[in-house]
Amino acid sequence: MEESRLQLEYIEKVKKINEGRDLKYCSVVFGCQMNEKDSEKLCGILEKMGYERTGLEEEADLIIYNTCTVRENADKRLFGRLGVAKQYKEEKPDMLICICGCMMQEEHVVKKIRSSYRYVDLIFGTFNIYKFAELLYTRIEAKEQITDIWDSHREIVEDLPAVRKYPFKSGVNIMYGCDNFCSYCIVPYVRGRERSRRYSDIIDEVKYLVSDGVVEVMLLGQNVNSYGKGLSDNISFAELLKKVADIDGLKRVRFMTSHPKDLSDDLIYVIRDNEKIARHLHLPLQSGSDRLLRLMNRKYTKEGYLELASKIRREIPDIAITTDIITGFPTENEDDVKDTIDVIEKVGYDGAFTFEYSKRTGTAAASMEGQLSKEEMQEHFDRVLKKVQEVSKAQAKRFEGYVMETLIEGVNEKDPSMYTGRISRNNVVHFKKDGHRIGEFVQVRLDECAGFYYNGTVQGG
Ligand code: SF4
Repeated sequence: MEESRLQLEYIEKVKKINEGRDLKYCSVVFGCQMNEKDSEKLCGILEKMGYERTGLEEEADLIIYNTCTVRENADKRLFGRLGVAKQYKEEKPDMLICICGCMMQEEHVVKKIRSSYRYVDLIFGTFNIYKFAELLYTRIEAKEQITDIWDSHREIVEDLPAVRKYPFKSGVNIMYGCDNFCSYCIVPYVRGRERSRRYSDIIDEVKYLVSDGVVEVMLLGQNVNSYGKGLSDNISFAELLKKVADIDGLKRVRFMTSHPKDLSDDLIYVIRDNEKIARHLHLPLQSGSDRLLRLMNRKYTKEGYLELASKIRREIPDIAITTDIITGFPTENEDDVKDTIDVIEKVGYDGAFTFEYSKRTGTAAASMEGQLSKEEMQEHFDRVLKKVQEVSKAQAKRFEGYVMETLIEGVNEKDPSMYTGRISRNNVVHFKKDGHRIGEFVQVRLDECAGFYYNGTVQGG
């Protein structure tokens, strides 16, 4: 509370400096839902300071890049963007360039920016996002580059302004960081140890969102199934989910991401017994090979995963199961690829994000022997992707002709006479506008499956 008050004071100070000026900001987000959520907070702070949003970097007086480091080459993309931003700044010297997010937790990246990108005004990391107003004020006053990177988390500060991307749906952080140390993943290093938000704070936030017009929330955490560790509340994720779903006025609840090793039977039953909880479970597999799962430090086996998936399908037959798969992990061989393909067929995924293994400096896998060549990696990726597409298309086809409750999310990007919505199973559906509004739920018949999305017709006028 003390900290939020302090930050609100800094917001006021910057607002005063900005008074009478017509200022615009541009927010550029890379990476996952967590970053999206963090950027909503950064945008909220900027708007309270008097900045107006623009989608164009060249039009902005302040650009904020929220970076991601999960994939290799992400830094090249950022440095390319910064090169272009430099040209804008040459034409508009008062422009402020700010960078934050996961990549800033990597020492070599910050070093490079500080030495070769002197025109960047503000650099901060993942643990002090809530200090943005203070840091920006410091930069404006000091008139020199400011860097503030913390190596661990200090406190959870949530009650600051935020601008939601959608008025009718919102992400809600329930925990931060991760303790799992999967051998390929940089998240525990850049987002710190796992810490859960207090249960009552989460409930209050969701109630507030509902009173502000939100009908769907997505509970966010790197591993939601281990929610509650270290809290005195003694509440599991399954219980939290149920309590959130019980909130009056809220129509749909999603969550992301579940680690298979921690997914409890209770969670399956809570989803099964509660219609408000979306029929969609994202259950990252990563590999179907026991040997690779051990090397990845995933703490489950192929058999254990398959048992879990079939239990979920048995209890909730209409649920969509989606996954993440890494191909080309060090030493991946023919048998490993076959094991992964076997799991894809047996689970019958409704969708999957397939990634080529990406070496991240500082992780255990980066120094493993047996890194694959580009060609081997590509070959494994192509086969896995082909299987995923085949299986998920067949799954989507099963639901052709069904009528499903659909949240209208926006006007179709290609055809303004159409809406685009999302069903509980997380597929997108396009249908003719017919007087309903964005943010409403409508019943839509899924006429035709076109890969992962449907073309449909609203039922009942
Ligand atoms: S569970 Fe594993 S892959 Fe997911 S964030 Fe944690 S360490 Fe990374």
